[in-house]
Amino acid sequence: MIGIIGAMPVEIETLVSQMTEKHEERLGTDTFVSGKLFGREAVLAVCGCGKVNAALCAQQMILRYRPEWVLNIGVAGGADPRLRIGDMVIASAAVQHDMDTTPMGDPIGYVSKIGLVEFPCDGALRTRLRRAAEALPEVAVYEGVIATGDQFVNRPEVTARIRETFGAMAVEMEGAAVAHACYTHGVPCGILRSISDGANDDSGMDFAAFTALASRHAQNVVERVLSAAQ
Ligand code: SAH
Repeated sequence: MIGIIGAMPVEIETLVSQMTEKHEERLGTDTFVSGKLFGREAVLAVCGCGKVNAALCAQQMILRYRPEWVLNIGVAGGADPRLRIGDMVIASAAVQHDMDTTPMGDPIGYVSKIGLVEFPCDGALRTRLRRAAEALPEVAVYEGVIATGDQFVNRPEVTARIRETFGAMAVEMEGAAVAHACYTHGVPCGILRSISDGANDDSGMDFAAFTALASRHAQNVVERVLSAAQ
């Protein structure tokens, strides 16, 4: 069983339509759709935007379905100036950029109890995602830190601060929370994001215009990963 989480319906709806032998289950406010996806047992969920929604959904998925790995897919704002709309970023690690207990002497982004700033992403899964993404035409693929927080980032100075503080390539609102839940339960995690906007003044409009396209790119990569020989 593998688990796939998107924040918004558009980020997983193609995969939902490609799934067969579907079974739907509601747990609290999350709906899980399980079945066969390109020959593999899989479970899909829309977690909703933000870290708490994502962490709750990921933890429920892990405890209920015991996936061998969990993948968070969807769109993100580009923080690295090389990124163009539609390009792919595979997380090497994920940080919670709005976690700040620096007045107590902690490093910025430090998550107490867990004792980490960077939540790791699984190396083998990263390689599989990269190979599949590189097969897509006209899309550049990067690996780097993804920064997660409970805000839509559209101010260039905020984007620059997050990029410089964490070495972040992209900003979004769920990845590090999914990675956090996975880390807690010892489940390998992957994060794959396609760029919908540049995390700048145009982001509101770009997000509306390009989210469907960017979401298709990420789901296309998942199809290639699952269809490839295991
Ligand atoms: N109420 C809206 C909220 C969208 S928030 C809705 O539910 O449709 C934006 C979503 O896209 C988040 O899930 C986030 O992970 C991602 N995202 C894309 N561009 C972003 C940016 N510039 N900053 C933060 N998150 C971004």
